[in-house]
Amino acid sequence: MKKIEHIGIAVKDIEASNDLFAKLFGEPHYKVEEVESEGVKTSFFKVGENKIELLEATREDSPIAKFIEKRGEGIHHIAFDVEDIEKEINRLKGEGFVVLNEIPKRGADNKLVAFLHPKGTNGVLVELCQEIVINN
Ligand code: ZN
Repeated sequence: MKKIEHIGIAVKDIEASNDLFAKLFGEPHYKVEEVESEGVKTSFFKVGENKIELLEATREDSPIAKFIEKRGEGIHHIAFDVEDIEKEINRLKGEGFVVLNEIPKRGADNKLVAFLHPKGTNGVLVELCQEIVINN
């Protein structure tokens, strides 16, 4: 793994949280994106070299809705930047981690992503992400 790519925070009301975090960071978010397949609306903030992702559920069966119901708003996941996501998935499976997406899926912010089951990582939902390089 190369570095922390971003930290994901589950929120109930992304509009209100965009304002709140803009005050906190002194900078507004730089993009919003909806990931239909996951039932989430996201927004991204830059804090120096780091990124924060806010996530709001768009449906009741969204993983974010379930998370907030169980644990309330707060830190939802930590995402790590990887060079080769398939290689990393295989390496982690070999180490005994439970990978929730054996085939990486398309996430927000032009990334291929896969999650590790938090039961195997001391309760921390870990996201692996690899930048999608568009060659043209
Ligand atoms: Zn994320």
